[in-house]
Amino acid sequence: MPDIVLASRNPKKLKELQALIAPLGYTARLVSEFSDEDVAETAPTFIENALLKARHAARVSGLPAIADDSGLEVAALGGAPGVYSARYAGEPSDDAANNAKLLAALRDVPAAAREARFVSALVWLRHADDPVPMIALGTWAGRILETARGANGFGYDPLFWVEAYGKSAAELAPALKNRISHRARAMRALLRQLRA
Ligand code: IMP
Repeated sequence: MPDIVLASRNPKKLKELQALIAPLGYTARLVSEFSDEDVAETAPTFIENALLKARHAARVSGLPAIADDSGLEVAALGGAPGVYSARYAGEPSDDAANNAKLLAALRDVPAAAREARFVSALVWLRHADDPVPMIALGTWAGRILETARGANGFGYDPLFWVEAYGKSAAELAPALKNRISHRARAMRALLRQLRA
């Protein structure tokens, strides 16, 4: 089975991505096996940040690479925290602080105006200098709750209300989240491209 490197250091996100790429028949390896270097996510778009991470992972490993860059866009906040989702409340990244900041920013926003969506950009590179990166996007629409619910998942999951299931993303079983999330949708789109 060929190896592929995953350009993520978030173990929970990694677990999700690993499950999602299983159908491809690749053995996934972590970029941290090859390098401790942090990639600065300095670009203004999810796609460019995913490309930076994938290129770095391919370069340090010599393997094909897959990278995801994701975040939460809240309509009432003009799309914030967006590409800054991981470090919304500052660095180092802190989920509890990010969630507290989000709740404070939306304090005066009524339930009907709390629409949000998760966004995932996935990039697949055959090698570090691949001139034709494969790119896929996925989104997942929901609403920001007024109080946190649930203990699964990570990041903003406890505040993300999923109408179709009447639960927060952190109350969904991980396998279900893995089927319906922004990353799952982006991964299906990527798989379609890879098979085509
Ligand atoms: P990245 O690691 O640069 O892609 O940053 C992603 C950040 O967006 C995470 O730290 C979370 O704050 C947020 N995020 C992305 N995907 C999810 C998700 O599935 N659930 C909750 N938060 C997420």
